[in-house]
Amino acid sequence: MTTSVESYVRTPVVETLKKENIGKTVRLCGWVRTRRDSKGGFSFIEVNDGSTFKSVQVLAENKLSNYDSEILKLGIGSSVEVIGTIVESPGKEQTTEIKAESLKVFGYADPATYPLQKKGTSMEFLRTIAHLRPRTNTFGAVARVRNEICRSIHDFFQSRGFVYVHTPIITGSDCEGAGQMFKVTTLDFDKLPRKEDGSVNFEEDFFGKATNLTVSGQLQGEMYATALTNVYTFGPTFRAENSNTSRHLSEFWMIEPEMSFCDLEGNMQCAEDFLKTIFNNVLTNCSVDMQFFNERIDKTAIETLKHICDSAFVRVSYTEAVDILLKCGEKFEFPVSWGIDLQSEHERYLTEKKFKKPVIVYDYPKDIKAFYMRLNDDGKTVRAMDVLVPKVGEIIGGSQREERLDVLEERMKACHLSPEEYWWYLDLRRYGTVPHAGFGLGLERTVQFVTGMGNIRDVIPFPRAPKTADF
Ligand code: ATP
Ligand code: MN
Repeated sequence: MTTSVESYVRTPVVETLKKENIGKTVRLCGWVRTRRDSKGGFSFIEVNDGSTFKSVQVLAENKLSNYDSEILKLGIGSSVEVIGTIVESPGKEQTTEIKAESLKVFGYADPATYPLQKKGTSMEFLRTIAHLRPRTNTFGAVARVRNEICRSIHDFFQSRGFVYVHTPIITGSDCEGAGQMFKVTTLDFDKLPRKEDGSVNFEEDFFGKATNLTVSGQLQGEMYATALTNVYTFGPTFRAENSNTSRHLSEFWMIEPEMSFCDLEGNMQCAEDFLKTIFNNVLTNCSVDMQFFNERIDKTAIETLKHICDSAFVRVSYTEAVDILLKCGEKFEFPVSWGIDLQSEHERYLTEKKFKKPVIVYDYPKDIKAFYMRLNDDGKTVRAMDVLVPKVGEIIGGSQREERLDVLEERMKACHLSPEEYWWYLDLRRYGTVPHAGFGLGLERTVQFVTGMGNIRDVIPFPRAPKTADF
């Protein structure tokens, strides 16, 4: 039999499942999920290629020349090419199936050793086979939802005229105030060059100074915002904190918009619109994957997202939040008093129990926040805001930035930072300073929240965490 299909044309599974494509001849490639043989002399083979959650059913009859020699050996994980016609399926489970005219095997997967044979393998086990876990239902769905969130993030900013700016991954400023940093060096640890006082001489290092992996692109984002008005960064960031939690990674992706002529209110509104847009897009564009998460991972996943899209976020000042926590009668492990950094248990009480929706806490005590946040007139609090969501806690951290040169210099000194070292940052206030604001959204916490996945290590393809850097 001849077919009109050119060898480079490939139809993704998602297309073969559409009713309107019935009658078309296709070339389909993918990996076998199951094979069922019928006594009538044919087999049903489920093929998945990751283009959608579902697999397509291929009907292979025993008149195919390699039916006995190859097709009957196909098991889960084998890779195949099918040339055939999309037909209406007589089965109840699916609308279409593919009647194979030929089936070629690219590679078999030995059932004796293929690690994904069993259903219901644990997340912990799957982390040890991160090279194969994208072939599972869960990790395929996570990858597609993560992709949709990224697409949606760019779309949100691009459609509003924000310029995507690339900030450096290797930085030479040693304190950005956001956490411990990983050193970047080519020095030979066995023969470290030393200064007279015994300290390491970084002048002999690759960059001629001590350098680190970035913890945030904010300061560089501000440089571009004070020229292009609205910008955003979207890149990897690194934190060397030894926090072994289900919400912390050592390498994660952060989205940081920075807006000139914007205050804290504008910043909060942007954050709220931004999250709602992302959630709406996922509900619309990943409905099949979301149904899976809703059934298998978190029974409230879809309902939670819909509820959030339809209602306004709660806004409470830090002082009000502390008041609520002091009066609520809940026993917290870490006691509450004005001035403490809110712990995860406090954040979760506010968003899960008290308000049952996202909460934006703003105007935090200056002593627990970074030097660049704008000082309020009370002299005690700064124009900071955190967006808290159920299950995950803090998903966004942001602030209006201090645009007054003298106040900023004072704050830097109080934080033991040298204004000389940040001359470039201060120049932005020295020359045409403007009110401006921005925030950082953690991509993985967003994926975690949307999918309901319990551990952040399962929403990034290759997690990096303390003592973990495999694959
Ligand atoms: P947390 O208090 O939860 O450790 P943070 O206050 O240190 O977070 P920020 O410096 O404000 O975090 O970073 C902005 C956002 O980046 C956070 O709101 C969060 O979504 C994300 N984020 C921060 N640290 C991590 C991490 N270690 N792993 C994954 N995401 C993170
Ligand atoms: Mn924060």
